[in-house]
Amino acid sequence: DWLNMESFDLVPIVDELSEMMHVTFSRTVRVNAASGSVYLKGDRDKIRQLFVILIDNAIKYSKDTIDVTVSSVKQTVRVYVTDKGIGIPENEIPYLFERFYRVDGARSRATGGVGLGLSIAKRIVDLHEGQIDVMSKPGHGTTIMLQFPQRKG
Ligand code: ATP
Repeated sequence: DWLNMESFDLVPIVDELSEMMHVTFSRTVRVNAASGSVYLKGDRDKIRQLFVILIDNAIKYSKDTIDVTVSSVKQTVRVYVTDKGIGIPENEIPYLFERFYRVDGARSRATGGVGLGLSIAKRIVDLHEGQIDVMSKPGHGTTIMLQFPQRKG
């Protein structure tokens, strides 16, 4: 894959998506960025796509406010996308990043989707030498954690 690398601030990208989700779906996405701006070196369009996928999932599988927390600690950019939705059973978590995988059950067929989102998300994270992890508790919600090396220049 060809990456269009540049250095950019993540916070306005997430702010813009939050605004878009509010206008389009009347859903609240709270953006928490204590330091104001968080710079990342990467492909801006692909990173934006990554956030579209994660926020879209959080909206599809929950009803309440969604929290996106962005920070940078010791040369590492860290992002948490947290929802208080239906959650994911622990035994399903290892398969989430496979193509066309959807958690079984009526609840997942009731929402649209083909099960490609998270496999694309994982691909984008890998292209940026990052890490994606899922923490979830059925009935309580899900947090997707991203980590990226904060490269200089
Ligand atoms: P799409 O291809 O439109 O993204 P999808 O949401 O089904 O469809 P993925 O984004 O790959 O596909 O997600 C895979 C499965 O993981 C989903 O079908 C859903 O069961 C589960 N999942 C993903 N995100 C969440 C979340 N935030 N809360 C609960 N379940 C989730």
